[in-house]
Amino acid sequence: MPAVAAARPFREGLLKLTPPRLLGSRCGRCATVTFPPREFCPGCRAVEPITETELSPEGTVYSFTVVRQAPPGIEVPYVLAYIDLPEGVRVLGQVVGVAPEAVTIGVGVRLEPTAFGRDGDGTELVGYRFRAASEVTA
Ligand SMILES: [Zn+2]
Repeated sequence: MPAVAAARPFREGLLKLTPPRLLGSRCGRCATVTFPPREFCPGCRAVEPITETELSPEGTVYSFTVVRQAPPGIEVPYVLAYIDLPEGVRVLGQVVGVAPEAVTIGVGVRLEPTAFGRDGDGTELVGYRFRAASEVTA
């Protein structure tokens, strides 16, 4: 029987894999959405009802920087950006699929799960990044 590669989000409650979605929290009183999820609402300070909510996988670049120095093992340059999601949430993440010199504010991106290592029992750990909606090169 072939081994099935087990994979899990690097942190439970932050990311689900099928389909890939970031998980936020939504306030039942004022509808404020947060990421990462919070136990109270930063909009109205309510502690309930706060519920888990799946965030849109598509967003746009609000602002970005190009990282040119990194610890050994991390390839540079890469684009690190704040992504605005339709729920009114701003998420920090790496953007791939666009040349650093070609990325612009407002470019469309899509959530992309990405494996980055294994835990002690060999389970693949999956994080997230964003991919430019259309491949852009300088
Ligand atoms: Zn609220």
